[in-house]
Amino acid sequence: MAELDIPTIPHWIDGAPTASPSGRTAPVFNPATGVVAATVALADQAETDAAIASARRGFEEWSSWSIAKRQGVLFAFRELLNARKPELAAIITAEHGKVLSDAMGEILRGQEVVELATGFPHLIKGAYSENASSGIDVYSLKQPLGVVGVISPFNFPAMVPLWFAPIAIAAGNAVVLKPSEKDPSAALWLAGLWKEAGLPDGAFTVLQGDKLAVDGLLNSPTVESISFVGSTPIAQYIYETAARNGKRVQALGGAKNHMLVLPDADLDLVADQAVNAGYGAAGERCMAISVVLAVEPVADELIAKITDRIARLTVGNGAQTGDAEPDMGPLITDQHRQKVAGYVDIAEADGATIVVDGRSLVVEGHEDGFFFGPTLIDGLPTTSRAYTEEIFGPVLSVVRVGSFEEGVALINSGEFGNGTAIFTNDGGAARRFQNEVQVGMIGINVPIPVPVAYHSFGGWKKSLFGDAKAYGVHGFDFFTREKAVTARWLDPATHGGINLGFPQNT
Ligand code: NAD
Repeated sequence: MAELDIPTIPHWIDGAPTASPSGRTAPVFNPATGVVAATVALADQAETDAAIASARRGFEEWSSWSIAKRQGVLFAFRELLNARKPELAAIITAEHGKVLSDAMGEILRGQEVVELATGFPHLIKGAYSENASSGIDVYSLKQPLGVVGVISPFNFPAMVPLWFAPIAIAAGNAVVLKPSEKDPSAALWLAGLWKEAGLPDGAFTVLQGDKLAVDGLLNSPTVESISFVGSTPIAQYIYETAARNGKRVQALGGAKNHMLVLPDADLDLVADQAVNAGYGAAGERCMAISVVLAVEPVADELIAKITDRIARLTVGNGAQTGDAEPDMGPLITDQHRQKVAGYVDIAEADGATIVVDGRSLVVEGHEDGFFFGPTLIDGLPTTSRAYTEEIFGPVLSVVRVGSFEEGVALINSGEFGNGTAIFTNDGGAARRFQNEVQVGMIGINVPIPVPVAYHSFGGWKKSLFGDAKAYGVHGFDFFTREKAVTARWLDPATHGGINLGFPQNT
């Protein structure tokens, strides 16, 4: 009965919210209350085709604009985002559950990419070699690809789209964003902001949906590239399918990030950072720390310090503000909570000690919310699935190792290579670490080393399929295609004559 009152979150096509005629929908929860707050449209093939066709029209228009005019839109978007980001943070918290200050944090990191993109003329201006051969000039142009697809995960509903869209748009492309169906409203809000900033209709399109919409993008001959962020099995599927269809593709996958703690490290700093990086956003970050590798004899002392800090953490509704804001919100769905709990069950069955157990946490007044308390595990066997697989929840495991070498070998034995960190006061050890770990992003006494916008974001191994990382110079390379032009403007006094030989430079 009440379901009749629940709004359906639409697509954004042709510069306006667009209802879905297909009638396919999925529930969107408020994870703090467990209530279905809305449903989201799930596109069928016809809606997907309509979104892509609109984006193609948007591309024809947008790519014809001068660099100066395009830059004006980028600057306007940056100003609007900066002024109105509290609205976006509230939307993120309502659907994702993360606390408001953390939602603001993800927006700020996305805004950094917008700011980078405002400087795009410098990065897409190509190069010119005068008189490369006698009377011949050679120059390269960087042109947009056309319609580009972005498929994003639930855990950063604003930041991940902002890793790609500002750079793609600055370079003259039209973006079709397929957000996660679990928290789809941030994408719509961003679409409205692009319109307000002056972007022509179709140049930023939101296609709500599930696998059907994703496959529609992967199989469309009009979509030139795919930028994906999500779990590893889906990333691999996206990479293989898009590549088979001749598309440019970057597919960022899952993670299992380790923090290596050497005995000389400041253990109070380590404990603070392990708690921040393990439990922030309830562990639903691809750069969260999942395993603390403690080089003995520090493990017992470190576990005591982490346990002490966990006791002071508050868990609750992330929408509460000011002093009432908790440290941690809920997980995204009840299904995900069961999955996280399942990994703690596995760890226990495999012989680990559950030092702090968050499985039975109930938040007063929010009994139906998807909460899971911070959990600390000791003695986790490295053969356990709780060690080898991504948990993506507030579960931190301490694994005791005998040496730096043993720690590095463990890090390198995993299938992921997204992020890692070392905590030490020994510069030589840190330098060796950065050299030897097979991981894309490394922190030295920094627990969540997400690179700034002018460097690039991406892991190694099963954390990134494809050659291009997100944003930074990689982003501009990914969203442009180069042409090299070799030109001769004949001096009326000269004449090349006939020569069938392969052109040689003279
Ligand atoms: P997910 O893989 O379930 O979903 C990601 C996107 O793929 C969503 O838009 C979803 O609708 C779509 N999708 C899901 N199943 C699909 C299928 N069978 N076929 C086609 N498309 C499908 O990931 P998630 O649960 O939304 O996000 C969490 C995961 O993302 C974690 O594994 C996390 O590590 C990873 N992640 C990685 C990074 C990174 O930078 N490497 C960043 C953020 C999140």
